[in-house]
Amino acid sequence: MDKKTNNMKTGVDTICVQGGWKPHSGQPRILPIVQSTTFKYDSSEHMGKLFALEESGYFYSRMQNPTCDTVAAKICELEGGAAAMLTSSGQAANFFAIFNIASAGDHVVSSSALYGGTTNLFTVTMKRMGIEFTLLDPDIDEAKLAAAFRPNTKALFAETLSNPSLVVLDIEKFARQAHAHGVPLIVDNTFATPINCRPFEFGADIVTHSTSKYMDGHAMQIGGAIVDSGNFDWEGHADKFPMLTKPDASYNGVVYTERFGKAAYITKAVVQLMRDLGSTPAPMSAFLLNVGLETLHVRMLRHCSNALKVAQYLEKLPQVSWINYPDLPRSRYHDLAAKYMPNGTCGVISFGLKGGRAEAGRFMDALKFIAIVTHVADARTCILHPASHTHRQLSEAQLAEAGVPLDLVRLSVGIENPDDIINDIDQALRNGG
Ligand SMILES: *Cc1c(COP(=O)(O)O)cnc(C)c1O
Repeated sequence: MDKKTNNMKTGVDTICVQGGWKPHSGQPRILPIVQSTTFKYDSSEHMGKLFALEESGYFYSRMQNPTCDTVAAKICELEGGAAAMLTSSGQAANFFAIFNIASAGDHVVSSSALYGGTTNLFTVTMKRMGIEFTLLDPDIDEAKLAAAFRPNTKALFAETLSNPSLVVLDIEKFARQAHAHGVPLIVDNTFATPINCRPFEFGADIVTHSTSKYMDGHAMQIGGAIVDSGNFDWEGHADKFPMLTKPDASYNGVVYTERFGKAAYITKAVVQLMRDLGSTPAPMSAFLLNVGLETLHVRMLRHCSNALKVAQYLEKLPQVSWINYPDLPRSRYHDLAAKYMPNGTCGVISFGLKGGRAEAGRFMDALKFIAIVTHVADARTCILHPASHTHRQLSEAQLAEAGVPLDLVRLSVGIENPDDIINDIDQALRNGG
């Protein structure tokens, strides 16, 4: 839809299909894969201006590539952001999102309800870089959250719908505290996707994604994305964020906020972090991601309706000790889900199986088409026991802190016939235990 001729707000479902690649007359209908590391220029001076960030243009695909940028633009539109970039993984997206504004000696406050890989990234690897994280229960009252901030705190981080504990974040509470302390709220929106939640509408400043999950949707490629709302006032907190508001010596003194405005944060992450750390997605991966995005809105609807049916079946079973699916009326997160994700949360259900680790293993081994895979959020129903798999590196205390009890089974409900999914679970419970 051409914004010049129609200022109606485009729906996310239309953006899934039509966003990003908008060919001109005679161009390919389908997003082209620009399979090239490099780009040709006619004059030395032109190339020089690109390196000085005085002109925008492609020169080397470690930093930018037209296929990847077009898919980033679609995700940017889906989230309602000002600028976006793709990364080679969700891990790289979360690392870049924080490292872009925090350095050795700085501090970050984060929800403890996190993906296991993110907990390791924060508390092991980024700690080694000298960045300290305070992890806290996202459900704590606001005064306790406020007390966690320090003068050197540079960001507040959380997952909008946590993997695997399915905590629904009170985004407004987190945004209020981040802004009261002069830092951005960064949220990982992987599980909800912009189909079910658009965090910028509730005050989040930066959104990250593991596109390896629902966005790709077919378990084909690893990827990540960072989207900036453009709303955080870096210059209003210039002393806290000199890396954006003071000259960058590695680019002849460019000041990102002055030269790039609302795109300052993403531009810096591309030209500085991608330049130096190179977590670049392949154009072919971006192409496949775009194919996934074209059906995201249809798949999310089916994931949610299937998962609700499966959750309603599971909650009545005597073998199930507890269940968390935020769309069930009895869930403690039902009210937050109704506010932030009124059309549904996601296809993932977590529940406790009586008999703990041993019973979980027997049950999963007896499943027929529901597969045990280290993955979640794709079209095929799959299952995992986090304490034995993704969260194996965490101690029991850390498991409890991350909201991952030993008996937690994570079921990622796919888009098959819901009765077939229920029948497979049913026969496995009868035959496995
Ligand atoms: C999977 C996941 C990640 C990490 O993403 P990768 O693409 O596997 O690197 C980060 N956050 C959440 C919420 C995830 O589910």
